[in-house]
Amino acid sequence: MQDITKYNFKNKKALIRVDFNVPLNDKFEVTDDTRISATMPTIKEVLKRGGSVVLMSHLGRPKGNEEKYSLKHVVPSLEKITGKSVKFVTDCIGQEVLEAKKKLKAGEILLLENLRFYAEEEKGDAAFAKKLAEGTDVYINDAFATAHRAHASTSIIAALFGDNKMFGKVMINEIQHLDKALNAPKRGYTAIIGGAKVSSKIIVIEKLLKKVDKLVIGGAMAYTFIKAKGGNVGSSMVEQDFLETAKSVMEKAAQNNCEIILPVDSLNADAFKADAKTNVTPSNEIGEGWMGLDIGPETRTIFADIIANSRTILWNGPVGVFEMEKFARGTFGVAQMIASATEKGTYSLVGGGDSVSALNKSGLADKVSYVSTGGGAMLEYIEGKKLPGIAAIE
Ligand code: AMP
Repeated sequence: MQDITKYNFKNKKALIRVDFNVPLNDKFEVTDDTRISATMPTIKEVLKRGGSVVLMSHLGRPKGNEEKYSLKHVVPSLEKITGKSVKFVTDCIGQEVLEAKKKLKAGEILLLENLRFYAEEEKGDAAFAKKLAEGTDVYINDAFATAHRAHASTSIIAALFGDNKMFGKVMINEIQHLDKALNAPKRGYTAIIGGAKVSSKIIVIEKLLKKVDKLVIGGAMAYTFIKAKGGNVGSSMVEQDFLETAKSVMEKAAQNNCEIILPVDSLNADAFKADAKTNVTPSNEIGEGWMGLDIGPETRTIFADIIANSRTILWNGPVGVFEMEKFARGTFGVAQMIASATEKGTYSLVGGGDSVSALNKSGLADKVSYVSTGGGAMLEYIEGKKLPGIAAIE
């Protein structure tokens, strides 16, 4: 594995797997260019060291060649952010692409069409990877958000470059920050895990309870725990199959000196609707026909106190249905509390699409220590899995 800050890119063509899977509006304009900006340090490093750049990414989940998922929509943002003109080819493999790569001069940027226009990408097809690699000299993986996938462009391709492969700066940053959070001392370490399902985060929860001092559980998944403890949760979302798992998590936490903190009160709704009628009750006394959609005021105070007294904070997942304004206060509150703690010196790492979106909407993204660019990849990294995109480079 090579080091991007030391590698000699002079007259080399660097093939960079980036994550340009950005949101577009109905005019196909990029509405959030965070992911494009994030790759600038990597692109600039290659150009500064005399190389040229071939960028490849996926965008959305196209079924074949669907124009609405074309990466051409990203070109204006990319040009604005790099301050350079960007060449674009309407394919990611084939003769036209090879010609464009051949013509590319030092200092220039070429963007390839959506990798997922070919089913071979997600299948990890070796012949497809070979075609992607053709005409380039060095491979850089800078797409942490897809590092948990063994796709052609994220992992299979790496072996074709021998020793001429390396991580980009997004990837390096992610690994450093996640390792920092994972190796933080247990005292004063709080993880806040929210979201819909216990099932999707159970391995992470089991890992974290060995590492953290306090595990705060919010969102719908809290109700599976509350019900497992014998509470009445009305028609709140519960995973019946995970009641036993929830009990065992609570036992394991106790054995590991990890305190599990569940919501004590809930903001309930009489329907899963933005304009539903609401009430506030203890989280274990929710009435029939009512469902907990956000944490209540007492819980907000408890969470605030825990967050303010933490030295390290890891946050993944909303503590309520924050997409609806009425049930967003808890999640935006957590974002604010973490930002305030960070200002006073706490190290905070936030990941997962919804938590990051809550931070962005409150303008707090730069008020936490680190925002992970990966949701699924971050969770799998915390689970202790070797991510294919990382393994292929190392
Ligand atoms: P996840 O992808 O597992 O992180 O779950 C995120 C989703 O959980 C968001 O769309 C939230 O609206 C949803 N969610 C959070 N709290 C609740 C709740 N109390 N009831 C139902 N859904 C919730």
